[in-house]
Amino acid sequence: MKPAPFEYHRPVSLAETFDLLDRYGDDGRILAGGQSLVPTLNMRLVTPRAVIDINRLPGLDATRITPEGLVIGALARHEVLVRSALVKEHAPLIATAMPHVGHEAIRTRGTLGGSLALADPAAELPACAVALDATIGLTSRRGRRDMPAADFFRGIYTTALEPGEIVTDLTVPRATVGWRSGFEELARRQGDFALVGLAARVRLDAGVIAEARLVFFGVGTRPVRARAAETALTGGRASADLVTAARHALQNDIDPPADIHGSPALRRHLAGVLLPRVVSTLMEART
Ligand SMILES: Cc1cc2nc3c(=O)[nH]c(=O)nc-3n(C[C@H](O)[C@H](O)[C@H](O)COP(=O)(O)OP(=O)(O)OC[C@H]3O[C@@H](n4cnc5c(N)ncnc54)[C@H](O)[C@@H]3O)c2cc1C
Repeated sequence: MKPAPFEYHRPVSLAETFDLLDRYGDDGRILAGGQSLVPTLNMRLVTPRAVIDINRLPGLDATRITPEGLVIGALARHEVLVRSALVKEHAPLIATAMPHVGHEAIRTRGTLGGSLALADPAAELPACAVALDATIGLTSRRGRRDMPAADFFRGIYTTALEPGEIVTDLTVPRATVGWRSGFEELARRQGDFALVGLAARVRLDAGVIAEARLVFFGVGTRPVRARAAETALTGGRASADLVTAARHALQNDIDPPADIHGSPALRRHLAGVLLPRVVSTLMEART
């Protein structure tokens, strides 16, 4: 199918973007990498009056290190995140997760901001952002606000973005001593959205898990922090008993959906498979 007719705008400044968002309101759609928006336009699942292409906005594709941490611009392509030395050093969790996003052609166009704004509950980046305790920069004509990723994702394809606002960047706080990260996902085929995935970080202190952040995706309406499993791990040294306790606790944390890709029981099972794998990686990892 072809999309319904729409007006196409390609602003070259944030001010111009905000003018367009004001002018079209709900009838204007931001276009970033287009990897999700274009198929939905073509299938006429969305029929906006205007498409506002932000690819020419200057500076939004930059990745830089600041006193607050690693700042990744909204227009950073997935493939750039796979290769970036800064991302590998300061956010290795993201570098590890990104090769799982679609295929190379999709990663070449898809953007960080598009993935965060889309808020697919089976997407890798939202879960990584929550696991990293990252902050999402939201900018509108009214100014800028910085929101913890954990507060940004509200439900299936639903975020805290307000009318006239766009995602401009993600800030990953500087890693402090002892933190390590691990990532695993299970999908039917390489490049498919995950059935279940886990983005995790722990802080080790003399071999003891002092803090844990376990964020599952594909098991709820948004990234799900497995707080009972985190509690079960905290204070322990990695052992078969500790992981078994965390796996049991995990079943209280998640309420997976049923869809054509898998039943809740399958997803519960797969989450329980991923947890020990990731814990094992975390105990071996150096970052
Ligand atoms: C075959 C296939 C497989 C895929 N597999 C995966 C996968 O495994 N994991 C995964 O995470 N994704 C996957 N994707 C989606 C891909 O990662 C997309 O690139 C991503 O979800 C959206 O990014 P985008 O830049 O393409 O956004 P677009 O498609 O341009 O936009 C998506 C939505 O976000 C809005 N938007 C975009 N940028 C902004 C912004 N800066 N501020 C506010 N709103 C904005 C748009 O208006 C639109 O509603 C897949 C896509 C395809 C086609």
